[in-house]
Amino acid sequence: MLPTNPLDAWTAQQIGSPGALLTRADLAAYQLRQLRQTLAWAKAKSPFYRHRLADFDAAGLSTLDALRELPFTTADDLRTNDPPLLCVSQSEVSRIVTLETSATSGPAKRIFFTAQEQAATLDFFDHGMRVLAQPGDRVLILFPGERPGSVGELLAQALSRQCATPIAYGWPQDLAAAAAALRRERTDVVVGAPVPLLAVARYAAATGQPVRVRSVLLSADQASAAVRRCLAQLWGCEIFEHYGMTEMGLGGGVDCAAHAGYHLRESELLVEIVDPVSGEPVADGEPGEVVFTTLTRRGMPLVRYRSGDISRRLPGPCACGSPLTRLGRIERRVAAGVDLGAGGTLTIGALDEALLAIEFVADFVPSWRSGPPPSLHVEVTQVARVAATQRDTALVAEVSTALAAIPPIAAAMANGLQFSVSIARDDRLPGRVGKRSIVVEPSP
Ligand SMILES: [Zn+2]
Repeated sequence: MLPTNPLDAWTAQQIGSPGALLTRADLAAYQLRQLRQTLAWAKAKSPFYRHRLADFDAAGLSTLDALRELPFTTADDLRTNDPPLLCVSQSEVSRIVTLETSATSGPAKRIFFTAQEQAATLDFFDHGMRVLAQPGDRVLILFPGERPGSVGELLAQALSRQCATPIAYGWPQDLAAAAAALRRERTDVVVGAPVPLLAVARYAAATGQPVRVRSVLLSADQASAAVRRCLAQLWGCEIFEHYGMTEMGLGGGVDCAAHAGYHLRESELLVEIVDPVSGEPVADGEPGEVVFTTLTRRGMPLVRYRSGDISRRLPGPCACGSPLTRLGRIERRVAAGVDLGAGGTLTIGALDEALLAIEFVADFVPSWRSGPPPSLHVEVTQVARVAATQRDTALVAEVSTALAAIPPIAAAMANGLQFSVSIARDDRLPGRVGKRSIVVEPSP
């Protein structure tokens, strides 16, 4: 028998039914009310939505499905922000997040949050973490936490509320230092991004520092099966996953003890899955783009925001008994990967599955040039690199073999694709924080 999902009671409280059993009917009625309010507010306060929703009567919205009539909001809208999407005065904004993306040039996305919205995220983190952390636990946080309102800082605050001890470490770029902290702090739970976390685990193992961790929460990037499998083997830990993005207010959903999809933050987000080409809704269980509408935000509400992530709504009830909608793992980004011509598309996910399964790989940076000739270079960061180069040579060979076995690469090699592998000079992780991707180099 699985434990009751702590997000149920929290969601019931959020929707105005504290102490009551959470039901789909109550959730849907609440979401419709909040949706009407959000649309009316956005239209009244933001020049962007005033124009975008000009022909739409929010008060007349009678079902959640009627949302389909509305236009999408896109990442480009957040980049241009002209006319502005902001619905409150600048003085009411307590945090602005600027998101640069490697894949696009031009202006960055800017997302605005009020103090109330920051508090709502903190509350979600608090109750979401109860799925895996218990009072008295020591929780190591491997996310940046220096700035107020950053993921690491909010998580630390959230954990303090539930009598757990947060240990705010920061981004684990230096593997030796992070592994030392893990041992020193006798942690029960670790929260971090998938690849850096596996790298720390591998470093600790390679340098003879056995570590015991009960639970792990992976967040901020897709976790490949290779990462989950290797991490569970090294630490014998239970692995939980969180899905979210800054635009969602950081938190989106977290899986439960059944490990069968992310239970969504439905008191604050209305999630749709649509065909990425036609924009039409897809059936439960079918893949499509995650689109969401914020239900409580007043600073910069997002209406039908296209996340760019491909996933699916999982049908049927969860074994944990929660009525909260479950989202499957993110399968890929809509615009992910590089086109290898005859070989099809190469994604970071395919590279992760192949290369992170190799012992001693801490991380890697793939860069692609369309040519001519088309070329792929992979720089590998090795765990606990030793001065002897024998292991370097063996690792280059092993990575090369794994690359050549990835179907799109194998097919493209027949058409002239060249690839090369090098080993990074030391065992520090690349400094980038957030989602990993294939770097596209300009052609000569
Ligand atoms: Zn569940």
